[in-house]
Amino acid sequence: MDEKKKQYFKEFLSEKANALLKQAGATVTDMTGFNAMFPDPADRAMLETDRNFELRLRGREHKLIKKIRKALERIENDTFGICENCGGKISKKRLMARPVTTQCIECKTKEELLEKSLGL
Ligand SMILES: [Zn+2]
Repeated sequence: MDEKKKQYFKEFLSEKANALLKQAGATVTDMTGFNAMFPDPADRAMLETDRNFELRLRGREHKLIKKIRKALERIENDTFGICENCGGKISKKRLMARPVTTQCIECKTKEELLEKSLGL
C-alpha cells in the first residue's frame, strides 16, 4: 500500500474513532488525548491507564476502538489491507466499508459459512 493510501486510511480510521468517542460522550479533553496517542506510544500508554476514560466508553464502542487501534498499528507495520488468512490483498471497497477488517471477502465468506454449518 502506498503512502498516500496509508495516510488516507489513517485519517479515515481516526475520524471513525473520534466519532465513536463522541457517541460515547467523551469530552473534548479526552479526544485530544486520543489524537495524541497515535504518534506517541507514551501518550498511548498513558491513555490506556486512564480508567475514567475507559469506563466512559461502553462495551461495543470500546471493542471497536480497540479494533481501530489495531488497524492503525497494521498501517504502521505495512500489513494493513492484507488478509491475515490467505495473505491476499483486501479490496479497497471492502476496506472502505469495513476498515477494521483483517480478512479478504473470500476468507470472510468461507469463515461465515463454516460458522453457520457448525451452528456457531
Ligand atoms: Zn483471504
